[in-house]
Order: sequence, then structure tokens, then C-alpha cells
Amino acid sequence: MPIDPKLNVVPFVSVDHMMKLVLKVGIDAFLTELAAEIEKDFRRWPIFDKTPRVGSHSQEGVIELMPTSDGALYGFKYVNGHPKNTHQGRQTVTAFGVLSDVGNGYPLLLSEMTILTALRTAATSALAAKYLARSNSNTMAIIGNGAQSEFQARAFRAIVGIQELRLFDIDASATRKCTRNLTGLGFNIVECGSVAEAVEGADIITTVTADKQFATILSDNHVGPGVHINAVGGDCPGKTEISKEVLLRSDIFVEYPPQTWIEGDIQQLPRSHPVTELWQVMTGDATGRAGDRQITMFDSVGFAIEDFSALRYVRDKISEFGMFTELDLLADPDEPRDLYGMLLRCGKTLEVVGSR
Ligand code: NAD
Repeated sequence: MPIDPKLNVVPFVSVDHMMKLVLKVGIDAFLTELAAEIEKDFRRWPIFDKTPRVGSHSQEGVIELMPTSDGALYGFKYVNGHPKNTHQGRQTVTAFGVLSDVGNGYPLLLSEMTILTALRTAATSALAAKYLARSNSNTMAIIGNGAQSEFQARAFRAIVGIQELRLFDIDASATRKCTRNLTGLGFNIVECGSVAEAVEGADIITTVTADKQFATILSDNHVGPGVHINAVGGDCPGKTEISKEVLLRSDIFVEYPPQTWIEGDIQQLPRSHPVTELWQVMTGDATGRAGDRQITMFDSVGFAIEDFSALRYVRDKISEFGMFTELDLLADPDEPRDLYGMLLRCGKTLEVVGSR
């Protein structure tokens, strides 16, 4: 169903529609196409409005707003991070987002972004690894086998060519769930009893745990030469995964430094420490991996431009596949200044209904 720009309704993509859209496009195709859109936007990085996301922190977690604009479109995401939520049957991370027309300020799309965040995070991670991991990378350890983990596995297979997964979680039932969900896709999956066992022989180590503390998931002795670290779970002040010793041995790549210094694993380092912006590696303005023994690390925190790309991509896809409903979100009086008159006219229809 094409989106009719003349109608004053906003397309809304629910969780149900998002799942059906992703499955219609195909999970691998969705991840690959989304990564290409993210790369396209990273390559025009300087033109975007950028700000560290605005976080509201509590004992239990964080609620954040993530805005950006390329001058033609504006997007923002509302997202939370509450590690204890899973104990009450809720998601750790849940999100929704809006894409708007900068020219008139009207929203063009309202979408669920819980599933979309998992997809865009995995697509961005795999895209970073395409530039930073050794080109013959075949084996990935995933530490933390929760909601994000299968998306990471699928993106790394589709974009980087990962075949073998070595899984570890402090909760063995999470690992079993991850194995179950990834069985039959051609992965060779090894369930491991410790971080040390999981990282054995891994070309890439993904850390995607949730714990609101300075945790040390990856210690110095876990990381050998040539490894690429995809550090996803340390994404909040006071919430880290990688030991300082590992950071000091790695060449570190980030999305937007002013945000990553606040939220990423690099919050453990002095701000004078050198970090490279990932977009500059993509444009060729900075060097990515320089040799086979170098340890590279993508200190992922998730930046607004990735969500912007994802919303842009979803808007294109729903024009092709449908999978949205129309939301009556915009007031539309016949004479734009007669908003009050529109309210009164609505009252008259209520009286008619009420008098029956
Ligand atoms: P989740 O709660 O579904 O899963 C987290 C898993 O980590 C759980 O299975 C838990 O048992 C495991 N875990 C906790 N401590 C561990 C430890 N010490 N060792 C091994 N496993 C451990 O959460 P999720 O939705 O998968 O998110 C994971 C993390 O990724 C969160 O911290 C979230 O904030 C972060 N995240 C980052 C981005 C980004 O763009 N960088 C995007 C989305 C989520």
C-alpha cells in the first residue's frame, strides 16, 4: 500500500507489522540492506546535526532520547535500558521512533523500534567488523546470549561471513535459547561454560551483556593478538564490560566521541586517549585495521544516525510492502487557524450522538 502524502495521517508500524515486514524482506536481506543504508549515512556524517543522547538515569536503568537530522529529515528514538526488567518478564531495551519532514515539521512515520534497534545494532556491529576485523574471520564468541544475541549472530554471518559461534552466558538457559533459535541456519554452535572457553580461537569477540555496573566481562588474558572486539553492552555511565588493560592494548573505534566518552567502555580512560571515528574509516579519512596482530575494538553505544537510517529504510520498505496502519495524529481543520472551531464542531457531532 503506497503512502499517500496528501492525506494527513501518519503511517504507524506496530511490533506485529515490523515482525511481518522483516520476515517478508528476509532477515539476512533486511540486515544487509539496513547496513548499507547506515554506511551511506556514515559516509555523509558531517552534514548531520549531532548531540550526545539525553539520558534520564535512575537506580534501575535509563530512559534516553536520541535526535538527529540531515537537514531534510529529522528523526528521534525513545529508548530505555533496564537490566532487571527480564526478571519481571519485560525487555531490557524497548524503543519507538519518529521520522519527520524538516520542511514542515510533520511526522512521516511512527514506528516500534525494539526489534528495529536489535537489527540496527547488529547491522552496525557487523558493518564495523567488515572494516576492522581480519578479512578471514570465521569464528565469533558471543558473551551475553539475551535479546540482542541472535541478531548479532545473523548480521555477522550475512555481512562478515561468520560460520562458528561460541556462546557463553552466566544464565545457561539464555545460551540454550540462543542455540535453539540459531539451529538449522548452518552455524557451527559451541555452548561454552566460561568466557575463557568461549573466546578460545575466536576471531571476533562480541560482548553484549546487561548489568548496570562497572563489570569486567573481558579480562586481559582473554584477548590474543589479531582479535576484533565488538563491545555492545557497555553503553551507559557506570556500565562497562571491557577491562582497562584490554582497552590499553586495543585500537579503539567509536561512533560519536562526545557520546561514547560518557557511555562507552572508554569512560574508563582519560579523554586524551586516542580514539578513531568509525565513519572516517568508511570514507578513507582514517586507517582501520593495519595488521593481522593488531587488536581492534568497536566501542558501540548506539548513535542516533543509525536509528535515523533505520527509520528511513523502514519508510521506504513500507511503501513497497505495506505493513503499517494510518494514525490520526495530525489535527487537520479545513481552515488551519480554526483549530478551536474544529473542536466545537466535534462537540456538535457528540451532541447528535448523545441525543439518540
Ligand atoms: P538482555 O537482558 O536480553 O540480555 C543480556 C544477557 O547478558 C542476559 O542473558 C544475562 O544473563 C547476560 N549477562 C549478564 N551479565 C553477564 C556476565 N557477566 N557474563 C555473561 N553474561 C551475562 O539484554 P539485551 O537486550 O540483549 O541487551 C544487552 C546489552 O546490550 C544491554 O546492556 C543493552 O543496553 C546493550 N545494547 C546496546 C546497544 C548498542 O547500540 N550498543 C543496543 C542495544 C542494546
